[in-house]
Amino acid sequence: METSNEEQECCGSGCTNCVLDLKPSNHKLPAGLINLFDRTYQRFVCSSIVQLTEHVFRFRLRLEKFSQDGSDDMLNRLIVPPGSHLFLRAPTTDCRTECPAHDKLVLWRQQNPARPSFVDRVPPRALEKYDKNEDDLYFSRPYTPIAYDQEESTFDVLIKMEPGGRMTEYLLTLSLGSPTEWKGVYGDFVWMRNQYQSVVGFVQGVAIAPVYSTMRAILGDEEDYTRLMLCACFRDLQNVLLRDELRSMAGYWNFKYETYLSRRSCSCRQNAEPACACFKNLIKYHEPIYDRRLEANDIERLLVPFSERTNSLLVLLCGTDSFTMFIKSNLAKLRIENCYIF
Ligand SMILES: Cc1cc2nc3c(=O)[nH]c(=O)nc-3n(C[C@H](O)[C@H](O)[C@H](O)COP(=O)(O)OP(=O)(O)OC[C@H]3O[C@@H](n4cnc5c(N)ncnc54)[C@H](O)[C@@H]3O)c2cc1C
Repeated sequence: METSNEEQECCGSGCTNCVLDLKPSNHKLPAGLINLFDRTYQRFVCSSIVQLTEHVFRFRLRLEKFSQDGSDDMLNRLIVPPGSHLFLRAPTTDCRTECPAHDKLVLWRQQNPARPSFVDRVPPRALEKYDKNEDDLYFSRPYTPIAYDQEESTFDVLIKMEPGGRMTEYLLTLSLGSPTEWKGVYGDFVWMRNQYQSVVGFVQGVAIAPVYSTMRAILGDEEDYTRLMLCACFRDLQNVLLRDELRSMAGYWNFKYETYLSRRSCSCRQNAEPACACFKNLIKYHEPIYDRRLEANDIERLLVPFSERTNSLLVLLCGTDSFTMFIKSNLAKLRIENCYIF
């Protein structure tokens, strides 16, 4: 995901006194509610681990101190405002536990061995550590929940495993019941009901998370009439994320989406337009999935209906630098300036 200014300030050391906490959260909660995410690290137990694609896993985390007997203060709720992110921290020491890791994670590690130089090398520290009084007991990385459940005090994150990645190495040690430590919420994106008439999102891979969570929140608000269009890009059909979720969101009157694939999902070599017969067989009824890259003319086609009234349009972007630059250059051609990059 693109690195925001906020992330550039974070040294990734998982400090208890974190530079990010100097800035208060912009997120407003409904009157009387207190967010259990209070910017201190809290323990969440791993309650589900599901492999979605070759490299992406969906983790569900449940607040450890949460009690279901109703004895907890009813005003304290776990709330993740749309588009915001949390920090996961892990010990800098070897975190392998006695408990064997989840079998899917073990298999992923076997299939994606880290080159020894990756794991042994201390990652370059781009930023000076903020809290110099604290030893480097932890390191941290940001992740963006795609969903949360106030009643159950759980949240879900999609995490793309990076061979040799430092946090990936830690995540690969987890199993059901493993305790993990998270704090939040962070991010300066704030959505207000009916703020714009339309929101169009362009996302790539796991970077779908902040835009998906924002659009989900808008659809979940019966008094929000914003029209939504999501253009999601993935490598191939096997790597499409949240496929069933997007398909069911399309049942709402105000949500449309299109999915583009950068590599052909089928190797049959038929050059049929728009897709070969085998690809069509893999597509569910009326699923708007195109077996080709997103091109400039697609962006134009999607945005032209809004170009007359650009002041009532917000474009949300999340992806690699090259992806967001490509979209932004096309927005400039259409004189669309109102754009937020996660
Ligand atoms: C605001 C924000 C929200 C985010 N939300 C999500 C999210 O919801 N889901 C998600 O999956 N990610 C998310 N990310 C990215 C995430 O924070 C991590 O950067 C990602 O998980 C990789 O972390 P890591 O510690 O495993 O890899 P790192 O150790 O940070 O390594 C990063 C990359 O460098 C490579 N690498 C590591 N060591 C070496 C080496 N010695 N030589 C060469 N290459 C090396 C790794 O293979 C990897 O590809 C988000 C990022 C931001 C800024």
